[in-house]
Amino acid sequence: MAKHQIAYAKSNTYDDAAVAAALAASLALVGGWSAHLPAAPARVLVKPNMLANFAPEEVVTTHPAVLRAVLTSLREAGYTPFVGDSPAGSTRKVETVWKKTGIGAVCEELGVELVSFEAAGHRTLRGKNRFARELHIANPVIDADAVVNLPKLKTHSLTVFTCAVKNLFGYVPGMRKMMLHGKALNPRDFAEILTDVYRLRPPNLNIVDGIISMQGDGPSGGSPYPFGRIIVGSNAPALDHSLASRIGIPAERMPVERVCLQRGYFQIDEIEELGDVPEVKQDYEIPGNSWVALIPGPFGRYVAEQIRTFPVIRQKDCIRCGACARACPHATIPFEDGEYHIDHAACISCLCCHEVCPVQAIELSGSWPIQIYNGIKKLKRLFKKPVEEKSTVLP
Ligand code: SF4
Ligand code: SF4
Repeated sequence: MAKHQIAYAKSNTYDDAAVAAALAASLALVGGWSAHLPAAPARVLVKPNMLANFAPEEVVTTHPAVLRAVLTSLREAGYTPFVGDSPAGSTRKVETVWKKTGIGAVCEELGVELVSFEAAGHRTLRGKNRFARELHIANPVIDADAVVNLPKLKTHSLTVFTCAVKNLFGYVPGMRKMMLHGKALNPRDFAEILTDVYRLRPPNLNIVDGIISMQGDGPSGGSPYPFGRIIVGSNAPALDHSLASRIGIPAERMPVERVCLQRGYFQIDEIEELGDVPEVKQDYEIPGNSWVALIPGPFGRYVAEQIRTFPVIRQKDCIRCGACARACPHATIPFEDGEYHIDHAACISCLCCHEVCPVQAIELSGSWPIQIYNGIKKLKRLFKKPVEEKSTVLP
């Protein structure tokens, strides 16, 4: 038997019954809860993607129907689930994120405890990367008997792809996430930190909301892509590899995956894909900077630092909420003359501001090679055959 089994099950809708059926089918293929969790009634932390203030139909966060199915199934198996995460940016109003994402309502409906990682405190653990000697991990992550990771399938403007491993960055509470962005200025270096956070508490199981995923300028400014699957696997980087290859991103373009391979956290030839495995998507939009990861060595790092994607505020769409300014690790978004402005000379292109903007008023631009690459992509799209109609229903 292959070491890393990745199970796919179809659901084209967020209808509760359909999601529960897809979850049951994919879990059965990997041996069920008992094959991955300690004996019931263990306390199981369920860690969704609760990035920021986005409603479920914006496809940024884990859909509440997926969370409901997972919590119900864990309960039925005798476990004691609880839910927690640390959203990006300022955490002054975590309750607002709970409400907007629909995660709070599901926990209330099922009587499941919902914890704020900021309020719960953290432990300081030793880092094994070149940029952060210490990593702060929220207490509930360490104290739980098991962790079930519930990421959303998305592309990411900084790290190219975000799913199981990247979702664990939420283990790090509050502003400390932004400080880590400030320590590792390019995607390759930041990948070392993300991989190290994974090392400190690998989830027992990962269940991906891939029913409606995000393509393009993720993790919050892209567009919906009906992928139509729930995906389950116990090895987070192996699961990421399988999914990324299904949406057409080669392993060598993913900085996080490269570090995971170097550290021996998974082996590609040990992956076995099971169930309703989709064909490779030829029309999935991937971020324009992904090719930078192909350039090896210190020169590649130099290029990554020069060829930047940077944020630009569209003033006509900005609602002056200040979320971007609070999320910025370098305090480079001052409020002047009634508007927020980005100081591009000081900006480190971490894109935290882009992640948290609730109205997508921050667009991404880039140095000239990225603009040329994006221009070619747009031209290719103009001449491409229309994609066949898909049956996925937006909630
Ligand atoms: S302005 Fe620059 S440094 Fe500040 S959050 Fe945005 S991308 Fe990061
Ligand atoms: S750009 Fe977005 S996050 Fe920043 S103030 Fe405007 S609306 Fe808020």
